[in-house]
Amino acid sequence: MASSGKKLVRSKSGLKMVASNQTKNSPFCTVEPPWIPDNQCKCCIVCQKKFDIVHRRHHCRRCGRVFCSSCCNGKMALPRMCFIDPVRQCDTCLQVTARENEFFDKHLKILMTGAQFALTSSATGSETTSMCLCKLAPDNRALKFEFCTDNVVLEPAVIEKIHTLNVITSGCDPQGNQVATGVELLYTDDSREEQLVQLTAPEGALRRQAIMWMVALQRVSDTALNSQSLTST
Ligand SMILES: [Zn+2]
Ligand SMILES: [Zn+2]
Repeated sequence: MASSGKKLVRSKSGLKMVASNQTKNSPFCTVEPPWIPDNQCKCCIVCQKKFDIVHRRHHCRRCGRVFCSSCCNGKMALPRMCFIDPVRQCDTCLQVTARENEFFDKHLKILMTGAQFALTSSATGSETTSMCLCKLAPDNRALKFEFCTDNVVLEPAVIEKIHTLNVITSGCDPQGNQVATGVELLYTDDSREEQLVQLTAPEGALRRQAIMWMVALQRVSDTALNSQSLTST
């Protein structure tokens, strides 16, 4: 399928697998930073060790800053920048990447597997509530709504056009924690109309998956998107 095609490219930091068509890149991917030029850095910005023939400069692949070998010693997978192999990163960036990779390794799979919710939206043409399987599309660009009844259709919500993400809570559990019951999405659709979709987690056996899916969806806003104004309350 040409539209979901990927190609291998080589950057100065390593091999990358990116979408053949730039506009089809995952919204969770970002570009590599420019590297700070060698001649602008006389010493390591962390430990101040002076660079010379023995003490070489090392660029962090994530932030592009310059460090000595001991301050930029770790290598870690960086799926955010589409690298195939682990790449060198500074200690600060390693921490951010580790948290982000939890999203790529765990939450992204949950989002793509999907979960069932009772969906209410004015966009479906009626205010009625229908059971629906919500999942992230394979190219990660939109949330799809697959209804269990075939007379309801709702176009996918494009991730980059979701501007509000509110977790709906109802009361507290015995430990005093608020109980999440669903999630509300506000996004702009293809015809530039504002759409509000309310997803309510079902009771019973399907509830656990629905809650895990909602937690994963929140990570979309706080981990993986850097220029989005997604909020959760
Ligand atoms: Zn150093
Ligand atoms: Zn860094």
